[in-house]
Amino acid sequence: MHLEEEDFSYSGEALIARPNNPSSISDDEWGDYLFMRKNPKGRHVEQWQHSSGCRKFFVIERNTIDNTIYSSYTMIQASKEIKHETN
Ligand SMILES: [Zn+2]
Repeated sequence: MHLEEEDFSYSGEALIARPNNPSSISDDEWGDYLFMRKNPKGRHVEQWQHSSGCRKFFVIERNTIDNTIYSSYTMIQASKEIKHETN
């Protein structure tokens, strides 16, 4: 599987947990949720959108160095099957 970047758009690290109660956390914590993302070299779980096709979002596990795709998931599969590492 190879992603053509014209057809698909990267939409960030997958499975970011939204804070349960945003009004009770500090501005710094909210900023971390919104903006702090891992930028790893190697295997990375990412959310993409088939932007020039069906417009669906999906999740892949990709090697950011050589672009190997290890696995792909629908959003529902991803939320059930991928355990998100905590930082
Ligand atoms: Zn599609």
